[in-house]
Amino acid sequence: MQKVVIIGAGPVGLLLAHYLLSRRNYQVEIYESRLDPRLAEQSSQRTFPIALQSRGLNAIEQIFGLKVALAKKGVWSQGVLIYPKQGKPRQINRKMPTLLIDRNQLSLVLLEHLLEQYSQELLTVKFDCPCVDINPETQEAILESKNGERFTAKYDRLVGADGVRSLVREVLSARADIQCQKNFIPDVYKSLHVPRIAPDKTVELAGNYVHTSTLGKGIRLVLAPQPDDWLHGTLIFPPDNNPLENCTTDEAVLAYFQDNIAFIKPVMRLEDAAMLRQQPVSKIMTVKCDRMHVGDRILLVGDAAHAVSPSIGQGCNASLQDVQVFAQCLDRYEDKWEEALPAFTVERLSDVHALRELSDYSFPRSKSMMLEFVFRLTVGKKLRPWFPLLTNPLPMELIMESELPYSEVLKRGQGWINRVRESIQN
Ligand SMILES: Cc1cc2nc3c(=O)[nH]c(=O)nc-3n(C[C@H](O)[C@H](O)[C@H](O)COP(=O)(O)OP(=O)(O)OC[C@H]3O[C@@H](n4cnc5c(N)ncnc54)[C@H](O)[C@@H]3O)c2cc1C
Repeated sequence: MQKVVIIGAGPVGLLLAHYLLSRRNYQVEIYESRLDPRLAEQSSQRTFPIALQSRGLNAIEQIFGLKVALAKKGVWSQGVLIYPKQGKPRQINRKMPTLLIDRNQLSLVLLEHLLEQYSQELLTVKFDCPCVDINPETQEAILESKNGERFTAKYDRLVGADGVRSLVREVLSARADIQCQKNFIPDVYKSLHVPRIAPDKTVELAGNYVHTSTLGKGIRLVLAPQPDDWLHGTLIFPPDNNPLENCTTDEAVLAYFQDNIAFIKPVMRLEDAAMLRQQPVSKIMTVKCDRMHVGDRILLVGDAAHAVSPSIGQGCNASLQDVQVFAQCLDRYEDKWEEALPAFTVERLSDVHALRELSDYSFPRSKSMMLEFVFRLTVGKKLRPWFPLLTNPLPMELIMESELPYSEVLKRGQGWINRVRESIQN
């Protein structure tokens, strides 16, 4: 029995634990810096909605019962409604199903399912217990318990699934075991929650579509329906163009939305504006590494190895897919990590690097390309059966409506990606 220590009980760390334990020859210990989600009040923990498509859902489906359990806590979406400043929205339907689920709910379901199935001899999960260092020579993770005391956990294999600000990655990078680039993208965001149904019940926004609006100068609103008749989402804007900067009262925030985003006017209340005003502005970091393993014993997965912009809606999908691909490597090399780890890096790195490129350059930033983007997603798509050569799918469509590997999507969409990159550089 090999002992695997996983740092981070996010979606990826928890799904990997499912995969490893189902192989029957692993004992797993998970350490997580946040509070136990079963005990903590959900509203007190940072969260946001995640859209899971086929790549992430396929990875989840391999574990019996998980998809059904997740679907109970999420909402199936049929596509996107894009709202202009005034008037009717444009509707983009998706052929493939998308499950909208809150990030913390996703982790909670994965955790509960895990604890139901495996005994303490095979699985332990410790919350409020951050990893503060690792020592690859002695095969130890150094952890800090609730009362501030440090202790070590010995491992046969170690997994860094500790997200975009990964401690495991930082230690490996400081030792020059791995090369990483970290950047902040030119967008920041604030979380927003509004009811889906107007207080007087005269207006009801669709419960099976994502609602989006572009307000110019890089400001965008994305809202995803939740099972409890709420819309959860984000207001995204450039760091030097916060549309709420001069709104010093809750009333001023509400007035901004009422004046600029017609569709939200009937549902947004003063208390929603007050909550939004209190939300911090969050920065978004991206990560690119030159490998996803170190030596024979250490694996990096998910955002720890390859965080991308949330605009592309693939960070979690790609991260869950990491787990499925790694399990295939374990199958191929009969659980010999010394062979499975390098094979995983070779197989996965080109896809996660391609995703990074797609994430940076799929969305246009110039007005003319934005018009072309919306035209091709709506009218162009309808004309495609008659003019297939003139109306090639955009990379975003291939991401959302196919299961092609990211590197193949990049190959097919390279023309568009190059144009967006050039428009940004000029
Ligand atoms: C606003 C927003 C919207 C998004 N929308 C989408 C979407 O629609 N679709 C999509 O696919 N992706 C989306 N993403 C990306 C997605 O959230 C991430 O890709 C995904 O959560 C990665 O999972 P993870 O388990 O690798 O990392 P995380 O979810 O970050 O989990 C890492 C865990 O490790 C813990 N941890 C960190 N450091 C330590 C430590 N030192 N010791 C112990 N534990 C530690 C953290 O507390 C955390 O629980 C979005 C991201 C944002 C910010």
